[in-house]
Amino acid sequence: MGELANCTRCNELFVKTLKDICKNCYNEEENAFQKVSRFLRLKKNREATLPEVEEETGVSGQLITKFIKEKRLLTSQFPKLAYPCEKCGNNINTGKLCTACADELLRDLDSETQVAERVKLLKEKENKQTIYYSFKKDQ
Ligand SMILES: [Zn+2]
Ligand SMILES: [Zn+2]
Repeated sequence: MGELANCTRCNELFVKTLKDICKNCYNEEENAFQKVSRFLRLKKNREATLPEVEEETGVSGQLITKFIKEKRLLTSQFPKLAYPCEKCGNNINTGKLCTACADELLRDLDSETQVAERVKLLKEKENKQTIYYSFKKDQ
């Protein structure tokens, strides 16, 4: 008998697996994901924004954001699929914070090793963005 837990979506009691949601919710999320990915696969929809996808598919923006954070929807492929920074609400498409807020956080960090780690991460992020922008220009 597995461990019982409350589903983080519908609060139903269920036997905990690798997921933190119950089977019903899991199936619902899978259906939603299929819907969103089918919508985005169409060429004309590739530059759709989050609210547009939300409106067209009926899938909540929160769930779509979850898919982005889980990297099931790649913002490198769908550049307009941004979601708000957890601190200031600016549109971002990677991580939890925008560059400005991440910078601010960086200044608040005491440990130098942590700072070095963050800088490295930010640099990597910038590199990725550069690649994307040059890629777009070529089209
Ligand atoms: Zn559930
Ligand atoms: Zn921010």
